[in-house]
Amino acid sequence: HELRTPLALMQAQLELFSVEHPDVRPETAEFLTLLREQTERLTQMTKTLLEMSNLQSVSRSDEIELAPLIDEILTDLTTLAEQKNITFHQNCEDICMIGSDTLIYRLLFNLIENAIKYNHAGGSVTVSMQQENHQVLLHIADTGCGISEEYRESIFQPFFRVDKSRSRQMGGVGLGLALVKEIAVLHGGSVCVESSSEEGTTFAVRLPLNGEKTE
Ligand code: ATP
Ligand code: MG
Repeated sequence: HELRTPLALMQAQLELFSVEHPDVRPETAEFLTLLREQTERLTQMTKTLLEMSNLQSVSRSDEIELAPLIDEILTDLTTLAEQKNITFHQNCEDICMIGSDTLIYRLLFNLIENAIKYNHAGGSVTVSMQQENHQVLLHIADTGCGISEEYRESIFQPFFRVDKSRSRQMGGVGLGLALVKEIAVLHGGSVCVESSSEEGTTFAVRLPLNGEKTE
């Protein structure tokens, strides 16, 4: 909260200044845009960091119907997918698990968002889900550029991004996968890059159905 209030104020002041001074010199306009972009980045980062620092306190006793949750995420990501002409495929059994609704939404959203963001135009994203013993096994597969072997662990670290310039132009701060990992571990599960090549990447997520940590 203490972090967000001054940031929100800065953003509002910047917006206001731009509206009230529409005919500033081009250099000033450019400078203002830069300031606005950077404040927006800082706001996003703060939001995710706050989410991450608060994870332990979130209740994990919701009954989550995973198939409808995935439908919801795909709907929320339609605009992003349409911009790149990405098609979705789904192969999901209907599975119910115990956990935090909001956090599992966030986990899957971040993975599917990446699968769209780092895909080629006209590519596809496939989400599949099955039950295995007392776990749910999810696969998020894309037809994107792939992740080279040396980065397959580091991408889960906060602020790590493979191609800084390309990533910056796509927005985001490099906290998406760190959050995915935190949430998976918090639910007693795991996440990893199952396979990756120039043809695309598949992430695998394992989560216990009962939301308890298993040995
Ligand atoms: P944010 O998620 O915070 O908006 P981000 O997408 O850059 O930003 P992460 O989701 O943590 O951050 O991903 C880290 C990096 O891993 C990305 O910058 C990208 O380089 C790489 N990456 C993630 N998912 C994929 C993918 N499906 N295919 C190729 N590269 C990926
Ligand atoms: Mg991301």
